[in-house]
Amino acid sequence: MPTTRTQRRELRELADSVRGPVLGPGDGGYDEARRVWNGAVDRRPAAIARCTGTADVVAAVSFARREGLLTAVRGGGHNVAGNAVCDDGLVVDLSLMRGVRVDPEQRTARAQGGTTWGEFDRETQLFSLATTGGIVSTTGIAGLTLGGGIGWLGRSYGTTCDNLLSADVVTADGETVRASRDDNPDLFWGLRGGGGNFGVVTSFEYRLHEVGPMVLAGAVFHPLSRARDVLEFFREITETAPEQLSLVVSFPAAPTAPFLPPEVHGTRVAALGVCHCGSVEDAEAAVSPLRAFGPPLADVIQPTPYTAVQTMFDARFPHGRHNYWKSSYLRELTDEAIDVLVDHVARTPSAETTSYVWHLGGAYTRPPENTAFGHRDVLFDFAALAGWLEPDRADEHIGWTRDFWSAMRPHATSGVYVNNLGAEGDDRARAAYQPEIYNRLARLKRKYDPDNFFRLNQNIRPPA
Ligand SMILES: Cc1cc2nc3c(=O)[nH]c(=O)nc-3n(C[C@H](O)[C@H](O)[C@H](O)COP(=O)(O)OP(=O)(O)OC[C@H]3O[C@@H](n4cnc5c(N)ncnc54)[C@H](O)[C@@H]3O)c2cc1C
Repeated sequence: MPTTRTQRRELRELADSVRGPVLGPGDGGYDEARRVWNGAVDRRPAAIARCTGTADVVAAVSFARREGLLTAVRGGGHNVAGNAVCDDGLVVDLSLMRGVRVDPEQRTARAQGGTTWGEFDRETQLFSLATTGGIVSTTGIAGLTLGGGIGWLGRSYGTTCDNLLSADVVTADGETVRASRDDNPDLFWGLRGGGGNFGVVTSFEYRLHEVGPMVLAGAVFHPLSRARDVLEFFREITETAPEQLSLVVSFPAAPTAPFLPPEVHGTRVAALGVCHCGSVEDAEAAVSPLRAFGPPLADVIQPTPYTAVQTMFDARFPHGRHNYWKSSYLRELTDEAIDVLVDHVARTPSAETTSYVWHLGGAYTRPPENTAFGHRDVLFDFAALAGWLEPDRADEHIGWTRDFWSAMRPHATSGVYVNNLGAEGDDRARAAYQPEIYNRLARLKRKYDPDNFFRLNQNIRPPA
């Protein structure tokens, strides 16, 4: 904390070298700026440098380096682990850097490192273009892209990082470098899946695809008593689903919505969420088995603006709630895994808590180039997502999540999607990668960040 006169002088020095505001404890806006999506994370940095451009990032990184400060980098601030903030150290905060420029002719977009998916989609959809992005609009493009990126368009167009064309990076020694297929290709490989280990990315350039403005999307809802049938149906339909069709089965508390019978409001349901990014005729044919199965409690699959699809889950994942997640990949959805899902979903501890199985495959398995994204030979991503409002209910929620995850373990692979990890330690970060990818990432870390300056992330330690 900047309590001594020397520390206060140093902070003034930082403030002089950064164009954006530098906030310390007691400053207006400090509490707002230190808050992240996960309300269970409550850290008090010594200073938050709210950067307005690459020069500010260089100044902040150089200052932290010189002063030996623990340094966190904040993009969208959404990560469940809360690595975007730290106690006592410096936060290099990119959340004022949200510019997006679309080149509709080249079908590319460049976006600054603090941009959220809602902001990105708004600009690209002006031209009916999009790239694979997160399914909650307030998630940052930065953390999501650097860890891989799974979303409604992924089965057609691959992970978000498969669509990354270049990145501007500030390295641990305060240098600015560009990473692309032709510039620093080793770094470019590592940025596509290796997380925030190699530097601060101040801007990302993406390949875009023709999507929308309308797509067929929504969900069908079934009573929880049919959870097993729904999971078996999900397994069957994902075997033949066209690549333009993305499916997720989840077990939320039913929203208080007019399309659902009032007696199910607030009760747990089995929902099949869907988005088809192709033509309406193809989409109707692809979703017809979903409409026929059941009958469902409600069928709200309809032509929807793509930007609305990208906010469909926002209300389910509000800022500030306490959260604890655990996740694994599955290679198949076995009968035994379905038993575990049915059992644990029935004991979900609160309305704010949910769980899902997300269908992968398709273009996720065919990257246009070799990247550091960890596991492509899997078919499903499973996650138990506990959320709660009362801080004293943490144990109950964390206990349910851990039990659920442990029971799924024998039916899952040992791998995990790096962006779903909480603060689970080095072994779990390692599990996010195939061993050869992990070892290559570690060598890259030694080259670009040998002192492990960027360590508030799913950390890849530089080998001695
Ligand atoms: C509600 C919710 C929905 C989600 N939905 C999806 C989804 O649909 N698909 C999906 O793939 N993932 C999803 N995720 C996971 C998401 O990808 C990660 O939480 C991701 O880290 C969020 O990025 P961020 O920039 O918002 O995070 P932050 O918390 O800001 O950062 C996460 C990590 O990335 C580092 N970092 C952030 N910005 C930069 C930067 N500019 N340069 C270098 N390092 C940086 C941080 O230091 C930190 O280690 C979701 C998460 C939540 C909470």
